[in-house]
Amino acid sequence: MPGQLSRSDCEVIDAQGKTLMPGLVEGHMHMTFEGIRTGEDLTLVPPEEHTLLTLRMAKVMIDHGFTSCYSGASSKIRLEVVARNEINAGRYPGPRLRAATPEITVSGGLGDEDLLHYKRESFALVVDGADAMTKLVRICCREGCDNVKLNVSGDPFKPGAPAESTPMTQREVDAAVEAAHSFGRMVNAHARSAEAIKRALRGGADVLYHCEYADEEALDMMEAAKDRIFVAPTVSLFHTMLNEAGDYGFTREVSQSMGMAHLLEWSQKTHSALRKRGIRHVIGGDYGFAWSHHGTNARDIGFFSDYFGYTPSEALQCATRNGGALMMARSDDKLGELVEGQLADMLVVDGDPVSQPGVLLDRNRLLLIMKDGQVYKNETSAVRYRAAA
Ligand SMILES: [Zn+2]
Repeated sequence: MPGQLSRSDCEVIDAQGKTLMPGLVEGHMHMTFEGIRTGEDLTLVPPEEHTLLTLRMAKVMIDHGFTSCYSGASSKIRLEVVARNEINAGRYPGPRLRAATPEITVSGGLGDEDLLHYKRESFALVVDGADAMTKLVRICCREGCDNVKLNVSGDPFKPGAPAESTPMTQREVDAAVEAAHSFGRMVNAHARSAEAIKRALRGGADVLYHCEYADEEALDMMEAAKDRIFVAPTVSLFHTMLNEAGDYGFTREVSQSMGMAHLLEWSQKTHSALRKRGIRHVIGGDYGFAWSHHGTNARDIGFFSDYFGYTPSEALQCATRNGGALMMARSDDKLGELVEGQLADMLVVDGDPVSQPGVLLDRNRLLLIMKDGQVYKNETSAVRYRAAA
């Protein structure tokens, strides 16, 4: 019958009164983070423990309805690669995962913790010059990373390289993107400054993160590339640090002095403008801190409405349709909508996520979680039966 799937030999789940929706997609995952407070928390944990931690976080994500995670950055080159491989082999539960490189930065940039008098490792890989960049990106591709992360701009966490600064040169960005794309991999740009956004776009980066200090030219350039790029505002980190992290030393005064309120104001302004320009926003980003644990990533859906003016339905589409398009940007498969022919990542929710986005934060209300047609969890109480042909 046209418009209806054959029901012969199907297992039917009666979800009457519940909501069926696509699986959630985290657009800027850090699967190697677990309740961290400082960058050192990522450096001091040995690789063996860090591998197990990463697998634990994978389970947390799928338990909370995230059937896909696009990683922003890992803490060591192989951590997410191994997690992805274990998940894909069916040996460990977790979402489909695009594994990232560590943050690739330049001397003095975000993630370079070294000092002349005090040699220090960090969560980042420090590299200077186009040739060295090419080699490093190739090594990361060889080791199995799907996404290459470049710290193009500075950051409020990096004294000497604030968010408005752009330590990575155009030549370094170009070299990284060329090497990554030659391997069919994608490139994520940490880009808070206007110049970082422009360098990332000129170089051909696929995903732009943060983007708070975009100027008109940067906004125009992003709009011109909107069919090619994805953007994650990652508003949660500064929202939670400013409002909810007092117990961790980030009182409102401390957060203010680090420029959080200023960044949040610019985030609101920039991403509201990008919403109107039709940019493909994806939710998530920088969860995994002590004040913003994994499993609460769906809070971003509410933040997208509160900060950027999305309707609840549009915000949900950022979490599903846009995220699915991001996951499959280098694939012939399609994901993120309940449409025949797309990969079957689905949730059955006890409640209405449009009128109450908060229901997605309660894992007990996610009655069914399916990834790629495989039931991961099914607590629907309805009778299941094999339908007659
Ligand atoms: Zn991040």
